[in-house]
Amino acid sequence: MTSLFMKFLIATLPYAPNALEPVISRQTVELHYGVHYQTYVDKLNSLIAGTELEGESLEDIVRKAPEGPVFNNAGQVLNHQLYFTQFQPADAPETYPSDEMMRLIDRSFGSLENMKHEVSKAASALFGSGWVWVEADADGNIYVCQYRNADNPVRYGRIPLIAFDVWEHAYYLDWMNKRTAHVDALWGLINWDVIAERLG
Ligand code: MN
Repeated sequence: MTSLFMKFLIATLPYAPNALEPVISRQTVELHYGVHYQTYVDKLNSLIAGTELEGESLEDIVRKAPEGPVFNNAGQVLNHQLYFTQFQPADAPETYPSDEMMRLIDRSFGSLENMKHEVSKAASALFGSGWVWVEADADGNIYVCQYRNADNPVRYGRIPLIAFDVWEHAYYLDWMNKRTAHVDALWGLINWDVIAERLG
């Protein structure tokens, strides 16, 4: 029988590997996107080949998989897909939160600056490897949350909006131990038009 299994693919990088400099160097993009993210994709494909998860969407696998290798790799595929597609080149014209996004941020945090401060605090306080997400619930409440390892907001019924990868592989070559300064600098790369699409 011919397998119709459609493998998960690495997301196309919507900018050149050096376009995020100086916040994220070409070397970090090549390693983080081309090696770490690609390895999660390859491992996920090999883990689910021939199982009942073939044909499931990535989000459904992340929602439903028990703790373990499938969940870890699926979570990291989804996390990195959302992470790498949320940026725009450092020299591109600045984008801004949509009116709706700004209204929801103001309602939940009082201001965009307050929300950024919450992201800094969460990134600084996260122990070990993980992610900080700006996420929304079905009622349009916005949250800043910490996630361990490969975890993702979709597992808790939330909409992932903005990803901050605080695994050391994301920043150590460029920023060494200055994790919070790195996270603060990422705001300058965010493509708010992409974030508005995620909010829907
Ligand atoms: Mn990463």
